[in-house]
Amino acid sequence: MKCSKMLVTGGCGFIGSNFIRYILEKWPECKIINLDKLTYAGNPDNLKDLESNHNYDFIQGDICQYELVNELMSSVDQVVHFAAESHVDRSIEDGDVFVKTNVLGTHTLLRCALENKIDRFIHVSTDEVYGSIKEGSFTETDILKPSSPYSSSKASSDLLALSYYTTYGLPVIVTRCTNNFGPYQYPEKLIPLFITNLMDDKKVPIYGTGLNVRDWIYVEDHCAGIDFVRQWGKEGEIYNIGGGSELTNLDITYRILEALGKDESMVQYVEDRRGHDYRYSLDCTKLKQLGWQPEHDFDSSIKKTIQWYMDNRWWWEKLKQ
Ligand code: NAD
Repeated sequence: MKCSKMLVTGGCGFIGSNFIRYILEKWPECKIINLDKLTYAGNPDNLKDLESNHNYDFIQGDICQYELVNELMSSVDQVVHFAAESHVDRSIEDGDVFVKTNVLGTHTLLRCALENKIDRFIHVSTDEVYGSIKEGSFTETDILKPSSPYSSSKASSDLLALSYYTTYGLPVIVTRCTNNFGPYQYPEKLIPLFITNLMDDKKVPIYGTGLNVRDWIYVEDHCAGIDFVRQWGKEGEIYNIGGGSELTNLDITYRILEALGKDESMVQYVEDRRGHDYRYSLDCTKLKQLGWQPEHDFDSSIKKTIQWYMDNRWWWEKLKQ
C-alpha cells in the first residue's frame, strides 16, 4: 500500500524520529506531518537533519487537542501513532498524564481518523500489555495482563483502537513490539543510560538481581516491521514484532561494560522496581508468516549503538544535565 501523506504522532521521540527518517528515505514521494507536543522526551534535535526536507512538516501540539488533530487529519491518508508517555518508572510515580495521553489522546486520534475517513491507522503498542511470562511466548490472542500504569494505559489504548475497527470499520492495525534500542533514545532508558553513565565513569544502577529478561530489537527493524505491516497487514489485526534476542539485564550490562573497557565494579544493585515484570516474550509467527522478520543481530547492533552515543555526546549531554 503506497502512502501519499502520513500523519506521524510523537515523531520527535526515539522510535518516531527513526521511523520518519526511515520512511522519507524509503518512500521519497511520501509526505509526512509530525505532530508532537515536545514533552521532556520529544527532542527536535532528533530530526535536525530533516529541517530543510520539503516532504517533512513539524507541528507542535497535543494529540488530545481535537480541533488541531481534526484539521491535520483532513490533509492526510494514513496515520502512524507513536505519541505516548513511555517510561514505566515515571508512570509508577504518577500515572495521570499516562491516562491522558495514552488513552484520551489515542481516542481523540481515532475519532478524528474516523471523521476524516483515514485509509490506515497504525497503533504502535508494546509487549508489556501482555504482562510477564515465565516460560513460552505470548501470541496475539493471549489475554492482556499489564502490570504498570504505563502498560495498562497502552493496553486500554489497544482495545480502543480495535473497538474502532469492530464498531465503525476504521482500518486499524495494532503492532506490539519488544524493547527497542538504537540512536536517539532518551538517556533515562536502560541501554542509553548505561552507555552514557559509563562514558562519564559513573556507575550503572541494576534493579533487584538483574535477572529480568527482555527481548531486544534494533530500532530500525521495528520501523521496517511497522512499515511492512502498514503495507501488508490486515485491518483489525494485531501483529507482534520481536527482535529474537532475549537477554537478562545483567547480560546486557556485561556486554556494554566490555565494549567500553569497564569492569563489574561499575555495577550498583538498587532496590527492585515495584511490580517489576520478570520476563517478556513474544511469539512472532504471525508476522513471519506474513513475510517479515528482523534483519539486525543484537551483537553488531549494540556495538553500532554504543558507537553512536560515543560520536554524539552533543545530543545526549544536555539531556542528562
Ligand atoms: P518516547 O518517549 O521516546 O517518545 C514519545 C514522543 O511522544 C515524544 O516525542 C513526546 O514529545 C511525544 N508525546 C508525548 N505526549 C504527547 C501528546 N500528548 N501529544 C503529542 N505528542 C506527545 O517514546 P518511544 O520509546 O519512541 O515510544 C514510541 C511508541 O512506541 C510509544 O507508543 C511506546 O509505547 C511504543 N513502544 C516503545 C518501545 C520501546 O522500547 N521504546 C517498545 C514497544 C513499543
